[in-house]
Amino acid sequence: MNTQSAHPRRRPLAVVTGAGSGIGAATARALSEEGHPLLLLGRDAARLEALALPDAMTRSVDVTDRAAMDEAVRDAESLYGPVDLLVNNAGVMLLGSVHRQPAEEWDRMLDVNVRGLLNGVRAVLPGMVERRRGTVVNVSSVAGRKSYAHHTVYSGTKFAVHGLSESLREEVSPHGVRVITVAPGAVETGLLSHTTDEAVKAGYQAFKDSVEILTPQDVADAITFAYRLPQRVTLREVVVAATGQAA
Ligand code: NDP
Repeated sequence: MNTQSAHPRRRPLAVVTGAGSGIGAATARALSEEGHPLLLLGRDAARLEALALPDAMTRSVDVTDRAAMDEAVRDAESLYGPVDLLVNNAGVMLLGSVHRQPAEEWDRMLDVNVRGLLNGVRAVLPGMVERRRGTVVNVSSVAGRKSYAHHTVYSGTKFAVHGLSESLREEVSPHGVRVITVAPGAVETGLLSHTTDEAVKAGYQAFKDSVEILTPQDVADAITFAYRLPQRVTLREVVVAATGQAA
């Protein structure tokens, strides 16, 4: 943990899940540049530490572990003050055909992408409601708005993220808390690497190679733009994809 302050102007605490790589790492860097102290979560502690951001508490936490999430948020708040932003970004994409795919892969996607995201919400929301202020950014996908072949369970988890975010917004908007769904198209990260179906993986890689897809920074920019709007304004859904991505 590096608690050396590099920023004269102190902003409130932001929590980023899946901060060790891809979109989460780019978002953590962007928030740090804007002066936020951070709680960075992911399973691989070394990758979180390697970001070497100032005022950042790093915790090796599996988002499916509800108690560990709660404890990490409590510890960070005792050091940096109340959480003002949660970027619920941790996720896994294990593409494949449902009739061939090991059922354990469905379980993992449902556990991380849906239950893990809810654990994040649960860890920060009571305090936000009490303070009548705060922002939850749930990272979904364009696959949470439309279907693609071989995306059945992944897409199901992201439709769940969209659906629960819409309902959650209705619950907490009377308390002054914002819920923002960010739905990226294809982004150049390691997300695809965990897919075990080699044929499906090769097909997706060919698509990725045919288009100049988004960078993690592009998505981080969208997240920080939405967060930076006044608290009375909620950019409810941000759908952002490469211009060259047709579907
Ligand atoms: P990455 O694989 O780079 O990032 C995923 C992050 O989630 C990793 O840092 C990983 O860290 C973390 N993670 C995975 N499982 C867990 C877990 N159980 N507990 C805690 N952290 C976990 O891919 P992206 O940056 O692309 O993905 C970020 C989000 O963006 C995901 O929700 C993804 O679905 C979404 N998305 C990505 C798109 C893309 O094309 N890349 C398109 C649309 C949406 P660790 O392994 O250390 O735990």
